Amino acid sequence: VRVSVVCCLKLLLLLALGGVTMHVPDEGVLAPLGPLRLDGHLSFHDLATAARDFGNRCSLLPAAVLHPGSVADVAAAVRRVFQLGERSPLTVAARGHGHSLLGQSQAAGGIVVRMESLGGSAMMRVVQSGGAGVPAYVDAPGGALWINVLHETLKHGLAPKSWTDYLHLTVGGTLSNAGVSGQAFRQGPQVSNVNQLEIVTGRGDVVTCSPEENSDLFYGALGGLGQFGIITRARIALEPAPKMVRWIRVLYSDFASFTEDQEALISAEETFDYIEGFVIINRTGILNNWRTSFKPQDPVQASHFQSDGKVLYCLEMTKNFDPDEADIMEQEVGVLLSRLRYIQSTLFHTDVTYLEFLDRVHSSELKLRAQGLWEVPHPWLNLLIPRSTIHRFAREVFGKILKDSNNGPILLYPVNRSKWDNRTSVVIPEEEIFYLVGFLSSAPSASGHGSVEHAVSLNDKIVDFCDKAGVGMKQYLAPYTTQQQWKAHFGARWETFERRKHMYDPLAILAPGQRIFPKAS
Ligand code: FAD
Repeated sequence: VRVSVVCCLKLLLLLALGGVTMHVPDEGVLAPLGPLRLDGHLSFHDLATAARDFGNRCSLLPAAVLHPGSVADVAAAVRRVFQLGERSPLTVAARGHGHSLLGQSQAAGGIVVRMESLGGSAMMRVVQSGGAGVPAYVDAPGGALWINVLHETLKHGLAPKSWTDYLHLTVGGTLSNAGVSGQAFRQGPQVSNVNQLEIVTGRGDVVTCSPEENSDLFYGALGGLGQFGIITRARIALEPAPKMVRWIRVLYSDFASFTEDQEALISAEETFDYIEGFVIINRTGILNNWRTSFKPQDPVQASHFQSDGKVLYCLEMTKNFDPDEADIMEQEVGVLLSRLRYIQSTLFHTDVTYLEFLDRVHSSELKLRAQGLWEVPHPWLNLLIPRSTIHRFAREVFGKILKDSNNGPILLYPVNRSKWDNRTSVVIPEEEIFYLVGFLSSAPSASGHGSVEHAVSLNDKIVDFCDKAGVGMKQYLAPYTTQQQWKAHFGARWETFERRKHMYDPLAILAPGQRIFPKAS
């Protein structure tokens, strides 16, 4: 298909937008691109969709959306923008599933590449283990949703090892951040479970990279916030897929016992397969429960545990098992639980398939969508807090800065640094054990306690406390807006990050929504 970029853009924009006021790109901006030979196509009717994300707090209208029909399309578009040189203001943003929080997958007046066009399962290839030393893997397109990667690999009795809590995110999107969930303490984050990437750099070159080949680009792109290239394919390590999962929750009223038990569990040889936790403050309301498809076998007892003004801590664990060996699992779980100091009457469990467990957040998504509560603003704050300061942090934040957790869950669980490859671009605290603390707020109302302003002011207080108290915190999915903030975030790693940018995307074309390197024009 030969596509010429046309000049009726403004009219199309107005039609697409209805009454919404947004930045309207200059209609001439795409003209210098000239004709592009594509297997897919450029579109102009879906600009408003490409200007939206899960955070729902930032909307930057692109000039066009590229629906690539091939990797060559992605390369051709980026190469053409590169050839225009630094005087062109055009930028290119890969959009995974648009689950960013503050415009990170948007490109004001630029080109958004809809990576899901390249995400089909026909493009996935599962390779079984070739015996000792040859592990199984799947080659998945960068735009594939993790849920579809799971469906495909399960056909072969296999599954990726490391996950996020929610699977309707893309491979390229989570690998550009880190990809963390309750498996990370033993498997490492998703960026530690990739063997090879195919990347379109900011020069429009298609490069295959791995720890052995073009390793600088490989490690740079993992956690690289889309700054060095667009991931078009990832080779993801697989393991035999567990069949069933015993999913357990227990409650604590004492933070020290809760975290000591979490730390003991993530450090033990014999332990659970997944370990997370969350904080419950004066709990009411559906938004607090949105990640929950957990249906314990004793729901009556479970319902007694409203937190009633107190702060409670919930430890969540799973053990994988084969139904034929359920008794062995029961014994192992019994031994592990006997070492924990939770409130004895608060042991809840349920058995579900591996797929049901991994896809647990999706069922909550459907419930929230039905009530119009999914597409509300999400002023999330995700922090990585070193072990040595987590108690000081908890004392100040839970119950003092935060008086309730009604507008979304608060995750809190430890991971270990040694499972994170420090050659990637991901920035984490220096200590061996650090905590992921996620304040996953929704803001369903325009004013008051459910508003964006309220949530943001609490987030600001938390961040301010961390800065003043020297907590040693790093932000995950950081929403920084100036290069100065990013330099402080990267610290000693900034030099490497900047060098890689000059090397792989010298004109700062890619992922402008991260606001790290402004494009010179
Ligand atoms: P997008 O938001 O579309 O893109 C994210 C960034 O990566 C953008 O800068 C974009 O330009 C860039 N990008 C996208 N695709 C590519 C590509 N192929 N190549 C290069 N750059 C690319 N994260 C966790 O670690 N653990 C969790 O448990 C977790 N749970 C979540 C639950 C929900 C409900 C949501 C909304 C998010 C969650 N996240 C979690 C965060 C998630 O990792 C990020 O939202 C991430 O951005 C993935 O979303 P996406 O695939 O939609 O990518």
